[in-house]
Amino acid sequence: PAPGGRTLPGRAERSRRAGAAGGGAGAAAGGGGEEKRRGGGDDNGSFDVAVVGAGIVGLATARELLQRHPSLALAVLEKEPEPAHHQSGHNSGVIHSGIYYTPGSLKARLCVQGAALCYRYCDQKGIPYKQCGKLIVAVEQDEIPRLKALYERGLQNNVPGLKLIGAKEIQEKEPFCRGLMALDSPHTGIVDYKQVAQSYARDFQEAGGTILTGFEVTDMEMAKESPAQKYFAEYS
Ligand SMILES: Cc1cc2nc3c(=O)[nH]c(=O)nc-3n(C[C@H](O)[C@H](O)[C@H](O)COP(=O)(O)OP(=O)(O)OC[C@H]3O[C@@H](n4cnc5c(N)ncnc54)[C@H](O)[C@@H]3O)c2cc1C
Repeated sequence: PAPGGRTLPGRAERSRRAGAAGGGAGAAAGGGGEEKRRGGGDDNGSFDVAVVGAGIVGLATARELLQRHPSLALAVLEKEPEPAHHQSGHNSGVIHSGIYYTPGSLKARLCVQGAALCYRYCDQKGIPYKQCGKLIVAVEQDEIPRLKALYERGLQNNVPGLKLIGAKEIQEKEPFCRGLMALDSPHTGIVDYKQVAQSYARDFQEAGGTILTGFEVTDMEMAKESPAQKYFAEYS
């Protein structure tokens, strides 16, 4: 429940809010009396899954879950008036290429895959980005072994296009940069993650998912039984 004991709203209330937000396509879609609508909850304001937080992680999770299980009634609950209001809308905007993570780790694998997927998604949706690349620069002799170790790590992680370059090439790429050696990562880029998150939110709503803003989750309890048990069984 939200403050004041507020519970998830029923269909009529969600319909009103979707209209007020001017773009909640599909948030209360359906009607015609079918028991469970694609992505939407039932008339008692109950959902199979509620994701707390409309940051990029919550939105990506909810979007993917609905794509994999279109019959789930899904909601994202966000305490702020809009998605990506906090960290996801205020970060450095770097599409990391995956150099730094420990080889073989999930982070390393997902970062390399994720960067490629992020570029592809931005292309599909027309979200602007710049694949500007990144130079990691050694300015002292004793930094060179560390730079070479980073290069080896990046190769093990299958980061595409990595190469070590010398002082002259550094200047050609970045005239104001001075260094002895640099690791050139051409697949690093920048994007406005707020736009990416907003696009995930649209995808989710267009697939019938419900985003409830101004909805702070203040308490949770374990349900004794859930109509969605069959979905959880797939992952156990
Ligand atoms: C300074 C900085 C720079 C960064 N730069 C980069 C970068 O360049 N590239 C990169 O890939 N990553 C970067 N990151 C990391 C990245 O921003 C985060 O990993 C990502 O934004 C986390 O997303 P999130 O959805 O988990 O969190 P958030 O975006 O914070 O979303 C959480 C949401 O949950 C909501 N919420 C919280 N509690 C409740 C509640 N009780 N009820 C309802 N809603 C609730 C919040 O309002 C918020 O909207 C950076 C991080 C920082 C701090």
